[in-house]
Amino acid sequence: MILQQDISYLKGVGPERAKLLQKELQIRTVGDLLWTLPSRHIDRNKVHKISDLSAMASTDNLFGDGRDERSGIFVQLYGQIINFTDEGKSRKHPMKAVFTDGTGYVELVWFRGFKFITRTYKVNTPYLLLGRLSVFNGRYSFSHPELEVVKDGHIETHLGLQPHYALPESLQKRGITSRVYSGLVKNALKLLEQRPPIEVLPQYIVGQMHYMSKAEAFAAAHFPRSGTEYLHGLERLKFEEFFFLQLNTLQEAAARNQQRNGFRFPYVGQLFNDFYTHHLPFDLTEAQKRCLRQIRTDLGSGIQMNRLLQGDVGSGKTIVALFTLLLALDNGYQTCIMAPTEILAEQHYATFCHLLKALPIRVALLTGNVKGAQRQDILAGVQSGEIHILVGTHALIEPRVVFRNLGLAIIDEQHRFGVKQRALLWKKNIRPPHILVMTATPIPRTLAMTLYGDLDVSVIDELPPGRKPIETLHYSFEQEREATSLISGQLSIGRQVYVVYPLIEHSEKMDLSNAQEGYKVFADTFPDYRVELLHGRMTGQNKDAVVQKFVNREVDILVSTTVIEVGVNVPNATVMVIMEAQRFGLSQLHQLRGRVGRGGDKSFCLLISQDDLSADAEQRLLTMCRTTDGFEIAEEDLQLRGPGNVQGTQQSGIHIPLRVASIMADTPILEKSRNAVKALLDKDPLLSLPEHRATYQELIRTREKHPDFSAIS
Ligand code: ADP
Ligand code: MG
Repeated sequence: MILQQDISYLKGVGPERAKLLQKELQIRTVGDLLWTLPSRHIDRNKVHKISDLSAMASTDNLFGDGRDERSGIFVQLYGQIINFTDEGKSRKHPMKAVFTDGTGYVELVWFRGFKFITRTYKVNTPYLLLGRLSVFNGRYSFSHPELEVVKDGHIETHLGLQPHYALPESLQKRGITSRVYSGLVKNALKLLEQRPPIEVLPQYIVGQMHYMSKAEAFAAAHFPRSGTEYLHGLERLKFEEFFFLQLNTLQEAAARNQQRNGFRFPYVGQLFNDFYTHHLPFDLTEAQKRCLRQIRTDLGSGIQMNRLLQGDVGSGKTIVALFTLLLALDNGYQTCIMAPTEILAEQHYATFCHLLKALPIRVALLTGNVKGAQRQDILAGVQSGEIHILVGTHALIEPRVVFRNLGLAIIDEQHRFGVKQRALLWKKNIRPPHILVMTATPIPRTLAMTLYGDLDVSVIDELPPGRKPIETLHYSFEQEREATSLISGQLSIGRQVYVVYPLIEHSEKMDLSNAQEGYKVFADTFPDYRVELLHGRMTGQNKDAVVQKFVNREVDILVSTTVIEVGVNVPNATVMVIMEAQRFGLSQLHQLRGRVGRGGDKSFCLLISQDDLSADAEQRLLTMCRTTDGFEIAEEDLQLRGPGNVQGTQQSGIHIPLRVASIMADTPILEKSRNAVKALLDKDPLLSLPEHRATYQELIRTREKHPDFSAIS
């Protein structure tokens, strides 16, 4: 296919330029070239008169510093060079000329390329000039304008919208300017006219959507004749990008639903009912009930469940997980739950043992700390089926852990794990077990739609009743005293305090010494209380010991680096102090804050930072003070950092392969294309119909090109 053709064979490219394009813009094929769209278009429909310039020049942005290529006003003039007034010698002594259209005079200035200019531009020749208007020494002036010879009467053919490509300077310096680039695009478009069609969307979808052909869309996006045509072509291309992104994830799910049966858990049995009626320590929230109903429907359907349970920190995911486990047990299957850290695994283990103590259920804990005979016992119990619920860290997925009949696996804090680990859990039984993954990192809906094509999503969007909202306050270092008095107030009524120091990139040492200093300061400031230090360089055992002391209330103030981020549940801790809060990202701040406010007491989050903050940092801290709603924070994070950086995508190291469309700005197109993909898959989940041949081939190419992307879901 023409779009896959090596760029070096395109007219005007050659090996040298091909290398440059590949290196700077990852452009390898004709398709890559065409998918790199202009950053803007310059309206060349209007030709100005020099006498009108003073009216335009009054605009403020004319006097911008001129470094930003986008600022300033581009104008087009039609006239002639009268004479060259300065011979160019150097940057300090630029070449100058006077240009007129009969209504006034402007100055043209060149700082380099003098020979070329002398050779190319002639006096008394009609030129169409395009340049950014500036004022220099009180005169209108254009530096390095574009000049094209246009004979009288032929001006019409030169007007229209001209593409401008934002190319890195390294390319421009070596001759690939925006103008040269647009020439290459023209050559590529000519090829498309001659060769067979390049359509990869099913023809009937193009028809239904009233889209132009793909070749026309490329032409419209690069060289539109009008703004409407441009937008129309652009939408067609964005739609196609979203289409394959989603087809990629949704098709796997569709194929799986067709082919892969799951265990069917038809019963709600003794254990579930007994626990619900006699041992549940509180009423479930409506949101918890709704999520549980969705899970029950999945488990009864006979199709393997693949569900994401999203719920803010403290929203009560654990109890939903527990009920899900009980459903599996009632139907005669074993279960496991995997947590990202030993501390968390131990906490789940303790919670389950406590809640289930009256029921005939055997729970076991398997982490790296469990060794020797004890480990052998557990492995044997898992293999024989005596152990019903296995709680652990990624030790669970080791090959030596063999279940008798694993029917359900739960992964807590899923964003901490890679997809590979999830896949390994699948293989723990001949038929893949049902999978429930849980996360407290809310993913904005739009992003979830693209990323988790094959995961169904349940959301616990309600906190258990009686929670007092966490009050978040921002203090500068100078206001330390106020922070200190708040902390000592809480300590005096028996509450506990977390203090967190940031990880300083590239300097583990500094990071540590920071927390160590902090530890000393807190120990000095609060001599009557027990202060302990926790940091990443301690061994797992030492870390656990310190955390355990905090859990047991043997420590009042826990000073730490960010190691405590995930999951510890200490309801008596009511103050979270985050030092140098400006260094943390929004979702991390939110996670940290979630460590407090877990009991019935009012809690506080103190954000301590220096005084002068970047606009972004200021915005983050303001957001934290304004809201505790995880979804709102996730949306804000997406706005501030863009989809490539929000947590969840970042940690899985995934790059969303979009060149034209934007998940944030193009949500309506995203939805349209998702609907189209779904309709297609309902009809033909394996893409085997003849009308889907080209679409199928493009899907295969997409998967080859972005293996990591298809792997996430
Ligand atoms: P997370 O979603 O962050 O994992 P947890 O499951 O740890 O949250 O729950 C946080 C706390 O809320 C726990 O102490 C739990 O017992 C309590 N909890 C959960 N659901 C409810 C409820 N419906 N009513 C009251 N308390 C609840
Ligand atoms: Mg949890």
